[in-house]
Amino acid sequence: MISLIVPCFNEQHNLDALYRRLIEVMSAQPLAFELILVNDGSTDQTLQAIQALSRQDKRVRYASFSRNFGHEAASSCGFELARGDAAILLDADLQDPPELIPQMIERWQQGAQVVYGKRTSRSGESLGKRATSYLFYRLLNRLSSTPIPADVGDFRLVDRVVIDHFNALPERNRFVRGMFSWVGFRQEAIPFTREARHQGETKYNWLKLFVLAFDAVTAFSVSPLRLCSLVGLLVTLASFSAAIVVSLQKIFWGMPIPGYAFATAGMFLLGGVQLLFLGMIGEYIGKIYTQVQGRPLYIISETEPSKESTGEPQG
Ligand code: UDP
Ligand code: MG
Repeated sequence: MISLIVPCFNEQHNLDALYRRLIEVMSAQPLAFELILVNDGSTDQTLQAIQALSRQDKRVRYASFSRNFGHEAASSCGFELARGDAAILLDADLQDPPELIPQMIERWQQGAQVVYGKRTSRSGESLGKRATSYLFYRLLNRLSSTPIPADVGDFRLVDRVVIDHFNALPERNRFVRGMFSWVGFRQEAIPFTREARHQGETKYNWLKLFVLAFDAVTAFSVSPLRLCSLVGLLVTLASFSAAIVVSLQKIFWGMPIPGYAFATAGMFLLGGVQLLFLGMIGEYIGKIYTQVQGRPLYIISETEPSKESTGEPQG
């Protein structure tokens, strides 16, 4: 059986189209499937739409969060609920084409344990977003100790073995696609074109994207911490050499030591560098703090009423 996992945050206008296209694709498949819709604290009619789907089709299961916990928490929840031999994570807005699913399943049956979609082009997204996303993946890969493939979103098929390892990871700071890279196993890519959103607006504004990027870097790299030591060392060496040069000039050539412009500039520079790195260290301490608090990743306030049959295809 295949579990399809879809995190939904205010996606009421996409759900019917999504359901229709998924059913079309999956009914051409011999495999049974379940559709797990995770309502991430939507404020529109998403939950009602999900409930309606679940009433009319027993293969539709859902969990509804008590508030918005974010895409990473919603996908983690989906993987925990999944009962399939493999699960496929995809967006509700049809930016991840369901038509790619048969290819993914085929690769899986040939032995791949993770099959991810790699975007070859993205229509309907601004130049700014594409450029920053391009830079982000390259930077992340430079910094990260595990290679994380570039231009790969969360759209992927994951084998049961990998799901179990993923579910066992205890971290609260979850950058899902990075975590799957970290887990390893046989991973393959399928190129696809990322379409524009079916309906509605992206839920990621610049601030949310920036936070995601920061979470990703801190979750997969301690290089920023190392950078502190490196820059500290360079600044120390430079100021030490400057001190020697100035002293020699004074002793041997009797040159007057110039005024405090240099001293003040140096002070501000150092102050700035120190604050910057304090902040960087603070980022990691904050992550340690949330981890130690040990709060759950999400709280489910409602799930589908229990159904007698499990996994049996029904209309
Ligand atoms: N999403 C979510 N919680 C959030 C934000 C987004 O579950 O806090 C879901 C959203 O409903 C969609 C997917 O995550 O199914 C991707 O979101 P979106 O399309 O806004 O992101 P983009 O495609 O612009 O990166
Ligand atoms: Mg989208």
